[in-house]
Amino acid sequence: MVKRAFLALCLVSLLLVTAQAHLRRNNRPDHRPEDKGYLLPAALVNELDQWLARADFWRFVIRAENIRSRIEVNEIASRAVEAWLCGTNTICITTGLKQRLTEAEYEAALAHEIGHIIVPRNADGHPQLWETQCDLLAVALLRDADYVRDMLYTVNRACPNCRDEEHPAPYERIALLDYAAEATLEKVNRLDALRKGNFALRLTEIATITPRP
Ligand SMILES: [Zn+2]
Repeated sequence: MVKRAFLALCLVSLLLVTAQAHLRRNNRPDHRPEDKGYLLPAALVNELDQWLARADFWRFVIRAENIRSRIEVNEIASRAVEAWLCGTNTICITTGLKQRLTEAEYEAALAHEIGHIIVPRNADGHPQLWETQCDLLAVALLRDADYVRDMLYTVNRACPNCRDEEHPAPYERIALLDYAAEATLEKVNRLDALRKGNFALRLTEIATITPRP
């Protein structure tokens, strides 16, 4: 009888420990990209607000339209999940990233890299500001926050802890996007209204150079 009670107690303790571990796991921020604003550094949000208030989206959008025909994509045969600027107007993207992205998410990744070409980097600013600005510029160029958000979710699934001093983790980028995408779209929609049309960039027509080892 005592033995049975002891076993029952052990089982209850085990269940409690498992439940706690489950709770802890679900509270880890890298499992909760849907949570908004929970981890955003105040200094970064502050600088982002200031930039959004004064950024000349008209100039950015027109510049992107003007350079689009000169942009090339170089696909690099690698399983890594990365994209970066590898020339004045050349974007390098790994096969590992490209294969994971839908067509719309691929456009978002290219639009983000175009951001690195046309948004000036503020050397005195928060080190993660530029990445965030380029995500928002992608929203502006595509006139769509969902493409960019979906791209970040895909990156998050492949590499939830991909972060360094200059790159917020994908789930933090999603939270920042959710924070500022509406203000960005409002600005760019105002431009479209003035120009009497939607000039959203279609980026999938950009030529991709065959993967090289
Ligand atoms: Zn970037």
